[in-house]
Amino acid sequence: MSRFADSRINAISPYVPGEQPRDRKYIKLNTNENPYYTSARAVAAVDGETLLNLKRYSDPESRELTAAIAARYGVDCAEVLVTNGSDEALAFAFYAYCRQGVCFPDVTYGFYEVIAKLFGCPCEKISLLEDFTLRPSDYFGKGKSIVIANPNAQTGIAADGGDIESIIANNRENIVIVDQAYADFSDWNAVPLIKKYDNLVTVNTFSKSRSLAGARVGYIIAPPQLIEDIKKVKDSFHPYNVNAVSSVLAKNAIEDEEYFKSTVEKIVKTRGFLVDGLKEYGFEVLPSSANFVLAKCAMGGERLYKLLKDRGILVRHFGDERIKDYIRITVGTDSETGKLLNVIKEILDDEKC
Ligand SMILES: *Cc1c(COP(=O)(O)O)cnc(C)c1O
Repeated sequence: MSRFADSRINAISPYVPGEQPRDRKYIKLNTNENPYYTSARAVAAVDGETLLNLKRYSDPESRELTAAIAARYGVDCAEVLVTNGSDEALAFAFYAYCRQGVCFPDVTYGFYEVIAKLFGCPCEKISLLEDFTLRPSDYFGKGKSIVIANPNAQTGIAADGGDIESIIANNRENIVIVDQAYADFSDWNAVPLIKKYDNLVTVNTFSKSRSLAGARVGYIIAPPQLIEDIKKVKDSFHPYNVNAVSSVLAKNAIEDEEYFKSTVEKIVKTRGFLVDGLKEYGFEVLPSSANFVLAKCAMGGERLYKLLKDRGILVRHFGDERIKDYIRITVGTDSETGKLLNVIKEILDDEKC
């Protein structure tokens, strides 16, 4: 650190993204990306005209993309705000609503705590139950903003839709942010509730279910008054927040419903194959509604993570006390998952002798 840095910067431990090593070719199952390519229709829509016109600023309102998202969900354009990845959406929402205080589960997406510290939002962590599920009443009447990832990050567990609604309904004087990065892999979505509750902000992304992690596009769907608040933050921070190429990609990706459905379906099916395989090898696997699983093995998470990396497979290990014995595995293609299971079998066999 330099002596010039703000004390808040000095105190912060930034979010640590999953590694992207270049030393060899890995089977990459560590950052919950989609194993399937970006929609060909979306890629084809980026024509020479789009590229030559990068001389112009992008549309600060991202109107075409906003309209496509609104149409996909059956909401109004005034209920949608497009962002540079959903991390930016989270940052804007934290800035708008969490500076008086925010609470979230003790095991969840690590970015919440980082962004809260950066903005000086006092934060409270609420312990999940022993089985990593949440008890809705722990979130009633908190008197501060609430952030919940559903399905939850790191565990993959989805709360019951009725339980999420009860948290929103029991905090009408506070904002509830529902981070839906993995919602497309589950059987529930919070978006329809924005018509019923004026305190709900949903945060969504193209990174996971739409194979566009590298394009950095996210979106908030919320009641229009809340979109106005958050837009104020956006226009004070980064008015041209989504670039022209990513906008075209995302618009065409969200219109390619068929491809989206087929890839999500494949991932959900492969998830079943992965879970069954891991259980067969004696792993304890949390019930996942996401595109990854959190699994516990006898040899400990860190050791297995290292042994897999030595053999060319990247998974994620978190040092946090409650999940340090687990590894998080992204659901890849069937072939990647088959290879992973074979390598795990080899490792377990080696351990025995
Ligand atoms: C991946 C992820 C995000 C961030 O996604 P972006 O790529 O920034 O859109 C947000 N929340 C959770 C829970 C995630 O897992």
